Amino acid sequence: MARCIHCKTNLSWFYIFKRLMIVKRLDMECSHCGQKLYFTSRSKKILMGMTVLIPVLFVLAFILDYMALFMVWVIGYLLVMPWFVTVTDNDEPLF
Ligand SMILES: [Zn+2]
Repeated sequence: MARCIHCKTNLSWFYIFKRLMIVKRLDMECSHCGQKLYFTSRSKKILMGMTVLIPVLFVLAFILDYMALFMVWVIGYLLVMPWFVTVTDNDEPLF
C-alpha cells in the first residue's frame, strides 16, 4: 500500500482509488499532511499497461463470449490497483 514519504501515513485504499478512477491525475496530496505526492514511474507503467490491456481483453472477451469473465477481471483489477501503486515526492519520467 502506498505510504506518504513525508509523514509516513498510509494512504487509504479509498483515497488512492478515488484519485485513480475519478480524478485521473498522476499527482495527489497526502490526505494527512497535504504534501504533494506523485506515483512512481513503476506505478505509472502498471497503470498504463492495465489501461491498454482492458480494451484488448474487452475485444477478446467479446469475440470469445467471455463477458462475465471480463467483468470479473476488470472489477478485480480496480479493487487491487490501489495496493500496487507507490508514491514518491518528485514526478519521475515514465521511461
Ligand atoms: Zn503525508
